[in-house]
Amino acid sequence: MKSHRHELWFQVPTRRAFLNITPQVQEALTASGISEGLCLVNAMHITASVFINDDESGLHADYEKWLEALAPHAPVSQYQHNRTGEDNADAHLKRQVMGREVVVAVTKGRLDLGPWEQIFYGEFDGGRRKRVLIKIIGE
Ligand code: ZN
Repeated sequence: MKSHRHELWFQVPTRRAFLNITPQVQEALTASGISEGLCLVNAMHITASVFINDDESGLHADYEKWLEALAPHAPVSQYQHNRTGEDNADAHLKRQVMGREVVVAVTKGRLDLGPWEQIFYGEFDGGRRKRVLIKIIGE
């Protein structure tokens, strides 16, 4: 069995954003030389997510509205976590809802995704360098 580890780094200028990272994940898979196996992609931060869904801007606007309704950023004083001096309690909650990681099957050297599935990095507390781990195992 072979394994391959790769990190993707991001510095999102805005507090929140969704980035389609499918091409970078496929690139890491191609570099691994693995043709059959599994590919794990996870956020390495507790205020960011990796998830799979449609690359459609209306849906992303809907996520933004829905997540802000569930866990509004302001007023920051509404959260106990922010008593630590942080202002990102909402980002922790948003990350929980959107998930930490995805696992994608690898078939014939390609990500074996459904027809509309794309892999996204969800940033909920941007403005600093953060990373995603890709771990691929197989043959
Ligand atoms: Zn925090």
